[in-house]
Amino acid sequence: MFGSPGSGKGTQAKLLTRRLGIPHISTGDMLRERVQRDRELEASVASVMHAGALAPDQLVNRMVEERLGQGDAAKGFVLDGYPRTLAQAEELCHWLDERGVREVVIYLAVDYNSIIARLTGRRQCPRCGTLYNLVSQPPKVDMQCDRDGEALVIRDDDSETVIRERLDAYGRQTRPVLEFLRRAGRRVEEVAAGSDSPEQVFERICGIVANHDRA
Ligand SMILES: [Zn+2]
Repeated sequence: MFGSPGSGKGTQAKLLTRRLGIPHISTGDMLRERVQRDRELEASVASVMHAGALAPDQLVNRMVEERLGQGDAAKGFVLDGYPRTLAQAEELCHWLDERGVREVVIYLAVDYNSIIARLTGRRQCPRCGTLYNLVSQPPKVDMQCDRDGEALVIRDDDSETVIRERLDAYGRQTRPVLEFLRRAGRRVEEVAAGSDSPEQVFERICGIVANHDRA
């Protein structure tokens, strides 16, 4: 399962694992657990995780393969946050082919502007400058300034820049991986996840997975 920050990837992965009765394998969660468990790894892993960089491919590959070898993954699994690099994608394809496991790659496609809007919730009146927050301080009328009725706009500021950078980094990192998987003849499905409810997105994913099982 691929999806940028704010795409609802974690939510969809959890819904899917519940529906199919298979484990949700999140490399982010596993790395965090490992850091807590294993003091020796702490220094090396924590520092790269802290820097927002990638954990070394070999470490991650080994960790995922160990996990996939456990009994509860025998009937299938949802990978979340993996593969993240070309080296990881190659390793995974090799692993899948060796065992005759068929995969479907789901990419949750969302417009960056709508992610930013969702993540920040902040709006501003372009006429008088009044600030709103759709969650904590919403306008009386949806998306309209209380003072002058002007349509509210999304504000450009520092935290937005940070989110945008995270999204750009995700795109830079993920695009080559998806491209590699497509070229390798893997089934890559793009699911529109921008404006619909998590339930609607989930039904779309279930349709793809059901078709995959019949194929
Ligand atoms: Zn106003």
